Amino acid sequence: MQTQPRASHFIAGAYVEDESGEAFASVYPATGEAIARLHAATPAIVEQALAAADAARAEWRAMTGVERGRILRRAADIIRERNRDLSLLETMDTGKPLQETLVADAASGADALEYFGSVAAGLKGEHVQLGADFAYAIREPLGLCVGIGAWNYPIQIACWKAAPALACGNTMVFKPSETTPLTALKLAEILTEAGLPEGVFNVVQGFGEVGAALVEDPRVAKVSLTGSVPTGRKVYASAAAGMKHVTMELGGKSPIVIFDDADLEDAVAGAINGNFYSSGQICSNGTRLFVQSGIYDAFVARLAERLKSAVIGDPMDESTNFGPMVSEQQREIALRYVEKGVIEGAQLVIGGSALDQPGFYMCPAIFADVTDEMTIAREEIFGPVASVLKFETEEEAIARANATEFGLAAGVFTRDLARGHRVAAAFEAGTCWINTYNLTPIEMPFGGVKASGVGRENAAAAIEHYSQLKAVYVGMGPVEAPF
Ligand code: NDP
Repeated sequence: MQTQPRASHFIAGAYVEDESGEAFASVYPATGEAIARLHAATPAIVEQALAAADAARAEWRAMTGVERGRILRRAADIIRERNRDLSLLETMDTGKPLQETLVADAASGADALEYFGSVAAGLKGEHVQLGADFAYAIREPLGLCVGIGAWNYPIQIACWKAAPALACGNTMVFKPSETTPLTALKLAEILTEAGLPEGVFNVVQGFGEVGAALVEDPRVAKVSLTGSVPTGRKVYASAAAGMKHVTMELGGKSPIVIFDDADLEDAVAGAINGNFYSSGQICSNGTRLFVQSGIYDAFVARLAERLKSAVIGDPMDESTNFGPMVSEQQREIALRYVEKGVIEGAQLVIGGSALDQPGFYMCPAIFADVTDEMTIAREEIFGPVASVLKFETEEEAIARANATEFGLAAGVFTRDLARGHRVAAAFEAGTCWINTYNLTPIEMPFGGVKASGVGRENAAAAIEHYSQLKAVYVGMGPVEAPF
């Protein structure tokens, strides 16, 4: 398949190249081979993209919600028609198994475009009657938005940001991670084909400094970042200096609390989905598995047994359900954490080594007898490394689950309905699951608390983060004055 894009950037409805920008390659993680060569944006390209997005604002916001929504929904249909090709490209760019990308990446992006395409027509402000006077509030777009993406869900992240932004009448410049630069360009192409006016959605490539230049620009009204906590701190500080709106979707070290009365198979399945999908490279993963003492041994044994049946291999083979990691560097980070776990005294039950073959493969790992202070229980690994910790009481589990700077997600498995809700209420996390894990339908708000982020993506909540209210007071009678 064609993996080399026509050019590195997409600005004002067309592909644009500037070969003086730093060259970089997109690498297929299953083989380590370069599949595309691109150039990072130069200051001139960044300026071109910002100017295009700024110039497109007036026309786009003047359109009705129905008109904007129709374009977004058309784009959703095109994505669905081309889901297989987009999934193949996403698999080449990320190394994630085709079995996953066919259902979770472009498909979720299409859901976002369809959802916000429908919401666009119903956007409204408020009316407040004040005796004979009244006030109303107009829901306005924020203006020019910048989206910056991580490499684990490239097209999904681009759509989760673009769909609500565009539905509200904003324009966007999006910078994908340089590790996975390809599918955001396809999104720009598809939106253009669906009728999006030129300049409304633009893509520029590059490293952190390109992101930083976008965030700093005074024309930018809002920044939405998906990335790590350290990057989030920098971007948030820079946005604050310009008094800009932000959405920060950052990292996590989320807990899953499994009680003695849980359905063992469901809890194990939840732990698998919450640790090993996308080779463990998911922000909301439940990498701290707190298991009550009565079920602890059976849980560890069953999790290890089911992990042995993982089909690790060629991501293009649809029977493969565990692919390589996105890069050599990311695999090295995960392997170093496995070493640290062993040195600090955790029991490596299974996996944790690199596979001796081309590509960035490692065997998924489970650590048992993990304690709260161990490095693997405290830091985000962003790889297929699960830690199992033992607990005795509900109170203890909640306190330990919350004893982290992160607060992205959390899960609980129990057959006791009241306890499930009680524990979910006690979690310090933005997104929680009871008796399941890692499901993120577009209809449900998604985001973190504490160091894991600010703002929410998806659902009606996202509208609040891509629009603002302008209040207008209307005086109907004589104006009174004190003198
Ligand atoms: P990074 O934080 O390294 O990078 C995120 C993006 O920010 C990249 O596009 C990066 O560019 C860019 N960037 C880096 N420095 C700056 C800067 N100073 N100013 C502006 N932009 C900058 O994250 P990763 O790409 O490594 O992704 C993994 C992280 O993302 C994990 O922590 C994970 O938990 C988190 N994540 C959070 C999600 C959520 O919804 N909460 C979902 C998915 C991932 P470049 O890559 O070129 O450096």
